[in-house]
Amino acid sequence: MSTKKPAETNTILPTIIPRAEHTISRNNISHNALKVLYRLNSSGYSAYLVGGCVRDLLLGYHPKDFDIATDALPEEVRKLFRNCRLIGKRFRLAHILFGKEIIEVATFRTHHKDSHEQHGHSHKGMIIRDNVYGSIEDDVWRRDFTVNALYYNVADYSVVDYMKGMDDIKGNMLRMIGDPTQRFHEDPVRLLRAVRFVGKLNLEIHPEVEDALVNLNYLLSHVSPARLFQEVLKFFQEGPRISTFKLLLKYQLFDQLFPQTAVFLKQPETIHLIEKALENTDQRSKEGKSISPTFLFSVFMWRPIFQLTNKPQPHSDELPPHVIFEKSIRHVLSQQVDRLTIPKRLLISIQDICFLQYRFTCRYGTAPFRLLEHPRFRAAYDLLLLRADAGEPVQELRDWWIKFYDGTQEDREALLKEVNSQADPTKKKKRHVRRRRTKKTTPRPIQE
Ligand code: ATP
Ligand code: MG
Repeated sequence: MSTKKPAETNTILPTIIPRAEHTISRNNISHNALKVLYRLNSSGYSAYLVGGCVRDLLLGYHPKDFDIATDALPEEVRKLFRNCRLIGKRFRLAHILFGKEIIEVATFRTHHKDSHEQHGHSHKGMIIRDNVYGSIEDDVWRRDFTVNALYYNVADYSVVDYMKGMDDIKGNMLRMIGDPTQRFHEDPVRLLRAVRFVGKLNLEIHPEVEDALVNLNYLLSHVSPARLFQEVLKFFQEGPRISTFKLLLKYQLFDQLFPQTAVFLKQPETIHLIEKALENTDQRSKEGKSISPTFLFSVFMWRPIFQLTNKPQPHSDELPPHVIFEKSIRHVLSQQVDRLTIPKRLLISIQDICFLQYRFTCRYGTAPFRLLEHPRFRAAYDLLLLRADAGEPVQELRDWWIKFYDGTQEDREALLKEVNSQADPTKKKKRHVRRRRTKKTTPRPIQE
């Protein structure tokens, strides 16, 4: 059974779980978050840790950030902290800055008064206005899943539970607050959040949530590409990426995010390439190494780019291969940014990593030496290894580059000599092509 909101009132009594009956220890809470909680409390406001940090602490994970909910208004919070910045147009939030750590403090919110009529909702049922302050009893109904609606009260170290979230924590269950179909309609990003939490925290998905999930993937087309990009970044930044990827496929959400890649998912090379890249990234993050989203984006974009470079195009016989490559990259990426607003800086790197796949084939003169110096060489090289592993016919190229990369200067020169002497002497040195003048050989930034 899902938690249903009583029609006539917001008032429900919480279960207070005392310190002795839960596992949250102050040792695992950020000192800065504790400072903020104590100062709000001692100034007469109520203040709670809420959301993902409480959920993660109870499930035994290390929270990535600490969010606070309070009855103090943003301006009141600002008066208490010199290091406070108010952000947000639609809804004011206080950010308290401690060096690199930001503690986000949100005033309790409620749905807009007439939120179930037209006000505050678009004609598609999406929330467009969400900026009315309320009490903790109101605030709890706005949250998405019961496990995200637990409040840790630093005043007595108890956990305040309005939604039977603690039972769901114990049962490892992802359950929606309210009717899942309606809540997904209100904010379709919740579809992605559901999959992320199930994948990341190994939760079971409640049947009512699952029923709604399978039918509503199309709602993602109503979400702005900027917001979708932020969500996809979270997928890339948190493991285990391989499980969340499988869930995205299962619930047909992947198609909504990467439609061009989804077309090729039936090819074993595509699945193999993506899964291997995600597994390697999971391994890297287990080893504490840094993760760059650029590489994963390049992997996701590679197969549609590769297919396009091989597809006969009008007048393609007149174009040199590097131009065909550039055009394909630009085309695929410009389609992708219609779905996800990938920032320009990232786009340029993705473009480089994909274009280097072409440059790997140019093994003459000093070109391979120059490639080694390229800032994206390592990422592009890793993609080449994965491509060969996934069954693309680039094994010879991969083996050559492994030897070249690992070799001494002498080895490298010998390898170059060898590959050049193997070139078919009967083949004309350069195919005569009618070229259109191109100013640059490296691709220009994609226009968003
Ligand atoms: P994590 O930070 O680990 O990704 P989280 O649950 O903390 O997960 P945040 O985006 O930090 O996610 O949001 C904090 C809390 O705000 C959530 O736990 C939830 O209670 C509420 N929340 C965030 N986004 C939504 C949403 N789209 N709909 C309803 N509630 C939300
Ligand atoms: Mg969070």
